[in-house]
Amino acid sequence: MKKSYFVTCTLCPMGCRIEVVVEDGKILEIKGNECKKGEKYAIDEFSNPCRILTTTVRIQGGLLPKLPVRSTEPIPKKLIPSGVKEVKKAKVKAPVNYGDVILRNIFNLGVDIVSSRDLEKENKEKKNG
Ligand code: SF4
Repeated sequence: MKKSYFVTCTLCPMGCRIEVVVEDGKILEIKGNECKKGEKYAIDEFSNPCRILTTTVRIQGGLLPKLPVRSTEPIPKKLIPSGVKEVKKAKVKAPVNYGDVILRNIFNLGVDIVSSRDLEKENKEKKNG
């Protein structure tokens, strides 16, 4: 039985609503894309949707207790929950600069997890009264 899935292409501001017609797991037709890039986007979204992983990790000695991090490239959506768990295990010490690698080559995908910001060391000087 034929089924239609709809994806919104995010590659340009046009935001085409693309229909992917599928039967028995096979793509029969792609409609609604204004250009060829949208066709590939829809195929990827249907067969292996990927997203940028974003989360936070604990940081030792930082001005803030947590550091926001992200993947350098989108990774398969189905790996995001286990990816977040893996990233949370990372031991990070302040200071950290924007783009510093927190975890290299996650799941051997060729994608690193990097810091999304600079984070200074905690200022340990206490002000007296
Ligand atoms: S299909 Fe082409 S024109 Fe439409 S949103 Fe995607 S990139 Fe833009």
